Amino acid sequence: MYQEKLELLIDGQWTLGSEGNSHPLIDPATEEQIGSVPCASVQDLDRALEASARAFLGWKKTTAAFRWGVLSRAADLIETRKSLIARTLTMENGKSLREAEGELQFCADATRWYAEEGKRAYGRVIPAHSPDIRQTTLKEPVGPALGFAAWNFPAGNVTLKIAAALAAGCTIIVKPSDDTPGTAVAIGRCFQDAGVPAGALNIVFGPSAPISERLIASRIPKKVSLTGSTPVGKLLQRLASETLKRCTMELGGHAPVIVFDDADLDRAMDVLVAAKYRNAGQVCTSPTRFYVHENVYEPFIAGFVERSRKVVVGNGLEEGVQMGPLITERRLSIMDEYVEDAMSKGASLALGGERLERKGYFYVPTVLRDVPDSARGMNEEPFGPIAQVTPFSSFDEVIARANSLPYGLAAYVFARSGSLSAAASEALEAGVVGINHTAVHEAETPFGGVNESGYGAESGAEGLEAYLRTKMVTDKRI
Ligand code: NAD
Repeated sequence: MYQEKLELLIDGQWTLGSEGNSHPLIDPATEEQIGSVPCASVQDLDRALEASARAFLGWKKTTAAFRWGVLSRAADLIETRKSLIARTLTMENGKSLREAEGELQFCADATRWYAEEGKRAYGRVIPAHSPDIRQTTLKEPVGPALGFAAWNFPAGNVTLKIAAALAAGCTIIVKPSDDTPGTAVAIGRCFQDAGVPAGALNIVFGPSAPISERLIASRIPKKVSLTGSTPVGKLLQRLASETLKRCTMELGGHAPVIVFDDADLDRAMDVLVAAKYRNAGQVCTSPTRFYVHENVYEPFIAGFVERSRKVVVGNGLEEGVQMGPLITERRLSIMDEYVEDAMSKGASLALGGERLERKGYFYVPTVLRDVPDSARGMNEEPFGPIAQVTPFSSFDEVIARANSLPYGLAAYVFARSGSLSAAASEALEAGVVGINHTAVHEAETPFGGVNESGYGAESGAEGLEAYLRTKMVTDKRI
């Protein structure tokens, strides 16, 4: 049973919105309606804006130690409610319960990280050119913020924005994905129950385009943080430019994996199969372009296919399921299109390439081999359970091919040679590089892309910095 009560959070009150509009929420594993998502009206959005401005006046004056207390309680609540929220997350998004619980643990860890890091928003004393002058810099919260978040990490994407903003002393209005609203509501309740004051956190749902236009056009918010696709990033940046709001853009990726011929192949295949089918491939850092050295190409394909075949696909609520459905039916047709296009250009199918014959938006783990660089799926972010494999013969060739796309989020290198992996990690156009493993996002490390994968970072010290501005005070003794 889906249990979350879907409501907007405006100025500390949970509400169905002033106009009472809603749209259905569908479970991607069953295609059944499990809830109704309330839509914010223009009036609701304006109330949220005013509340975030009002609450900012008080929240920015709280001490870092006070905010630490509130955020620490929120982290504890996320951890305590983990199993319950995980069910909501799985029913909305489709990922397995195990993955959902792991995501929620990350949220608790990241909230604790930001709670601590908020105490370290240090300024500096800058030696002055005159003995009677003291020059200092102060770190201040940037102001009320806006957070737009994708559905693929329904808890993580919203928590990173809420926790960072609140730790820095900012207030925030979050617009989570309407595909995964209950998870955002459940996270919001943890923060509210932990003592976040009315207006400091607001959550709105409804049609993305008019909502973002209204919120970003306002002079109240001073910051936009988006986790979403590259086209939406470009759109929101254009809107933000009207009032010169600063942005953090966590956008799409198309991660190259380079497997050199000295790699520990068995280990590489174990790690990469788990990473490929995590959240059915709907991960911004999902390995998508597999460049495998020609000397180990055939054993890699054989081992990867053998492991992929064993991935258990089904409803994420069921015990033992490793991979759930895609988020919408439309994504199934796109997977078919990528497979057909690659095959028409010379690739062949080593596994899968079809939907599962059952209710729900399930696609079979798919391995395409000998995929040419011109295939659509090698250029557009596939965001699905498709591994595209292609051979390479030299270092320079593979780096040039890996760097050939406008994206630059994650990249992976598998090699035993330390000098080879170091050279590759330096040469790759990517914001994060994983060598011999794929865990490239932790609470304490900066995560973000380069080029058309965006800019700025979440997590780590940089994640807090994104919500701070610097004021210089020069003080002459009189
Ligand atoms: P999306 O860009 O379509 O939507 C993301 C969010 O942006 C939505 O929830 C909504 O709040 C807002 N939005 C959507 N359309 C909008 C519009 N027309 N105007 C204003 N706002 C709009 O992305 P998605 O399909 O929900 O998510 C998948 C994408 O997110 C992928 O490209 C993935 O790589 C990316 N992503 C990036 C990261 C990262 O950290 N870099 C993490 C997760 C997902």
